[in-house]
Amino acid sequence: MIKDLINFGAGPAALAPSILAAAAQAIVNYNNSGLSILEIPHRDGKHFDEILAESKALVLDLAGLSADEYEVLWLQGGGRMQFAMIPMNFLAQDATAGYIDSGFWAHDAQSHALQYGNIETLCSTRESNYTSLPIVPKNISDQLSYVHYTTNNTIYGTQFAQIPECSSPLIADMSSDIFSGQRDYSRYDLFYAVAQKNLGAAGVTLVVVKKNMLDKIVRKLPPILDYKQHALQHSVLNTPPVFGIYVSLLSLRWIQQKGIKNLAAENNAKAEALYKEIERNSLLTAIVAAKNRSNMNVVFNALNEEMEHELIAYCNNNGIVGVKGHRSVGGLRVSLYNAISMAQVQQLITVLKAFENEKK
Ligand SMILES: *Cc1c(COP(=O)(O)O)cnc(C)c1O
Repeated sequence: MIKDLINFGAGPAALAPSILAAAAQAIVNYNNSGLSILEIPHRDGKHFDEILAESKALVLDLAGLSADEYEVLWLQGGGRMQFAMIPMNFLAQDATAGYIDSGFWAHDAQSHALQYGNIETLCSTRESNYTSLPIVPKNISDQLSYVHYTTNNTIYGTQFAQIPECSSPLIADMSSDIFSGQRDYSRYDLFYAVAQKNLGAAGVTLVVVKKNMLDKIVRKLPPILDYKQHALQHSVLNTPPVFGIYVSLLSLRWIQQKGIKNLAAENNAKAEALYKEIERNSLLTAIVAAKNRSNMNVVFNALNEEMEHELIAYCNNNGIVGVKGHRSVGGLRVSLYNAISMAQVQQLITVLKAFENEKK
């Protein structure tokens, strides 16, 4: 039996059926190697080397970057590990890093950095519970060790359309919108994404870092926390999450096959259709103003909390899961990552309409 629920959850998120089938096959017998992907060694110069090489090449190709200039790393420890590693590596005790405070994860990243050096909050919408994006200042100092921001705020459903202008090194958490649309990745000195949203399974984090950043590491660190050591060891400093990297490779192939341009158009159309229904539906209200809306995470309310619970249950009864809002915001949240099809969005819209009719 194959899975039959539509998962609109924010992460671990839906994966395309073809990716799940290929991952399942690899567990049984990887590429007819006679071994499961869970058993293949990571230092035999064969299967895993191919997985690593192809996955890195695909990342660079999709981002439009060159291997001469950027390193691609597959690391563990999720988003939080990056929140810590970034200041550990790049923020000296007496130096200052700039943070754009646009949501829960952006704020958490900033909190981690406080332990290592000075922080300048460049702009923040924390006071208004992050329901809109902060206005990024035009005159960001070029003396900052780096500027960190979150391209898409997974919990609050806001997404930056523009890349901040700054001449200090630019670092971005792209966990919930990487490769979902067209973007000039060459503007970044480091960007990262946990895999469990747009890029595969939990347990692996993609980090792409400009090589010249690796000469700016400010303190002596245990190798496992040092970007340069990971780069020197080609992501096999320790036993890597082989299966997770393989699922990301399958996702990257799938993205490559679809084409980012097509995915971008599809993602826009999906989000547009859903926001349109939320605006039409007499029981629902979108939380974020149109100009700040994310096309990855759509957050909205029903008339009251009780109705929200009813709607979540109604969705569950109709084969739709993962629509409950994050505990810090409440309401509803529908995540429309790459793997979600337009047909699935239409199915959700049909259910939202039926719910409205039932309540009349
Ligand atoms: C989910 C998420 C994270 C956290 O990832 P973990 O792997 O749970 O630490 C960080 N940043 C963003 C933008 C996210 O959406």
